[in-house]
Amino acid sequence: MKIPPFSLTRQLADLAPELGSAMQRVLESGHFIGGPEVDRFEREFALSIGVSFAVGCNSGTDALVLALRALDIGHGDEVITTAFSFFATAEAISNVGAKPVFVDVDPDTFLIDLNNVEQAITPSTKAILPVHLFGLPVDMERLIQLAKKYELKIVEDCAQAAGATWKGKPVGSWGDIGCFSFFPTKNLGAAGDAGAVTTNDHQLAQKMRELAVHGMPQRYLHSDLGYNSRLDAIQAVVLNIKLPKLDAWVGKRQKIALRYRDSLQGLPCFSLPCTVDSHDGRHAWNQFVIQISKPIHSPVNNENLVLRDWFKAKLEDSGVNTIIYYPIPIHMQPAYESLTYQKGSLPVTEKLCTKVLSLPIYPELTIEEQDKVIFELKKLAQKF
Ligand SMILES: *Cc1c(COP(=O)(O)O)cnc(C)c1O
Repeated sequence: MKIPPFSLTRQLADLAPELGSAMQRVLESGHFIGGPEVDRFEREFALSIGVSFAVGCNSGTDALVLALRALDIGHGDEVITTAFSFFATAEAISNVGAKPVFVDVDPDTFLIDLNNVEQAITPSTKAILPVHLFGLPVDMERLIQLAKKYELKIVEDCAQAAGATWKGKPVGSWGDIGCFSFFPTKNLGAAGDAGAVTTNDHQLAQKMRELAVHGMPQRYLHSDLGYNSRLDAIQAVVLNIKLPKLDAWVGKRQKIALRYRDSLQGLPCFSLPCTVDSHDGRHAWNQFVIQISKPIHSPVNNENLVLRDWFKAKLEDSGVNTIIYYPIPIHMQPAYESLTYQKGSLPVTEKLCTKVLSLPIYPELTIEEQDKVIFELKKLAQKF
């Protein structure tokens, strides 16, 4: 039995007839850009997040760029964020001309450490960009208190957290703007690139809508330099079919996470991911990320070998495919050499990058496959 780290083929098997006829409808309508399917998705997505406005765009990366531009963030501005995320989080900040300022993460939650944010604030700081990494929500109440105190904006990176809530309120409804990705591997995936921004502010919504269409409030009147970043009708129709299923899919992810947690507890060389107390919110489990640390009596004597990488290779040999999110922290990426972060400047983030391993988790993962993942991990752990 071979278990892929992620698979869409089973979901497709369930949805193929519905998706096929809906796509056919769009093809026959000839309405590929904008139109009723896009309008409907924006309406229903806003409703599901509990905000007044959702604006579809081309990707999660573009959602971040549109959000930062709408808040007038650019040259000379600083945005506080995390270096333990997908590269796009920081890239969007840089691409609007601002400077990402990285704050270390909490070793248990992997989320931006709210104890470290205040000391990173300077007169140039304009916004905080928290990432609800792997589907775990950031403590938004605490973050909003901080932002209010220093009059900072909040842009939430919700790319991995569709379906997550904090204190019963969906992520993407807390900050000034929420940014979502519908890349196929996210909890709500399109059939290609797609994204959306969410907000309760009418002016921000309008601004982002214009920026996504060449800064054009009226046809051929350009009040801003914008982008071509629209949500296609073909993607919208796919999202319209999938959105009503998101809740149940996240429920299945939670069940798998619970099962992994129950079965893998107390093993000597790895630690399990944080959950969120049900009264605080809901983890959307886009990833189930364990940390593998070297025990004192390790049979692996080669000092150059990271134990995590040894686990990954052994698991692969036995048919369990895992992924490392993320092997290189953003501040250590060659593209950010100019920011001159030194090795050791974000110790928790850097350490995590050598320890983390994402186990297969997706709604269609069968009990037998979950058991195999658990069995193989336990077998390896017994060597220690
Ligand atoms: C996927 C992702 C993005 C970017 O989304 P795309 O749709 O791929 O552009 C941004 N931030 C995080 C945390 C992500 O996981």
